[in-house]
Amino acid sequence: MRDLSADHRLLSLNTATVRKQGDLAAIIEACARAGIPAISPWRDQVAAIGLDEAVKRVKDTGLRLSGYCRGGMFPADPARLSEVMDDNRRAVDEAAALDAPCLVLVVGGLPHFSRPGSAPSRDIGAARAMVEDGIAALMEHARAAGMPLAIEPLHPMYAAERACVNTLRQSLDICDRVDPTRTGMLGVAVDVYHVWWDPELAAQIARAGRDRLLAFHVCDWLTPTKDMLNDRGMMGDGVIDLKAIRAMVEAQGFAGFCEVEIFSDHWWSKPIDEVLATCITRHRSVV
Ligand code: ZN
Repeated sequence: MRDLSADHRLLSLNTATVRKQGDLAAIIEACARAGIPAISPWRDQVAAIGLDEAVKRVKDTGLRLSGYCRGGMFPADPARLSEVMDDNRRAVDEAAALDAPCLVLVVGGLPHFSRPGSAPSRDIGAARAMVEDGIAALMEHARAAGMPLAIEPLHPMYAAERACVNTLRQSLDICDRVDPTRTGMLGVAVDVYHVWWDPELAAQIARAGRDRLLAFHVCDWLTPTKDMLNDRGMMGDGVIDLKAIRAMVEAQGFAGFCEVEIFSDHWWSKPIDEVLATCITRHRSVV
């Protein structure tokens, strides 16, 4: 297992962690000040300053990426599928322009949440089929762009609105069907917030293996959790055995960044430099 205690060269900042404190340019500057070597930006943050400007600032600062957030939201009315695929192909192209190692997929829930305006549905099985079809359809463009797709299973509390793929087993089943020869172009993003509770966690991480482990996201699970979306904890403030999960992914040979991804009203209210300093301290001590 890698030793993180001496420095933070393996720390990446998911830029949603400080999205309320400034635009992407300000976040990049703050990362440079803190010596954080990598980020994982969100599409809306990139769009707000422009893709070319984002690419230039990332390059000028010498930052690397640990991922790009996000593609997905596949379930939709049939009439809107071309719009869904256009949107996802653009996400792949943006990720490639930014030299991201993967495009993270938040696959979508029921169609009317995934793509508002779609007809209301209670058929989660149909939504899951649309997810798999969407990923399979996107693979061609991803391969051409050399951009691996990382399915991020989300905690089941998000099944309706955000992702009807909720476990690593489900994600890896899709990987095995869509990419049976393990080309390296399809895998998973392991986010501790979503998978820490899973009794199959160790077995499924081992099943994923190095070639399917494309990203590793850390934060913590607070008790009680006061908000489903925006009450994630800083590493060390909750109940997740972070080192145990990191040991599982690193035992498979995962050598990428530990990406801090915290959506939290609490941390969004703090000065950006304070948040980054806390991330660094906790990265070195509890991740
Ligand atoms: Zn994540």
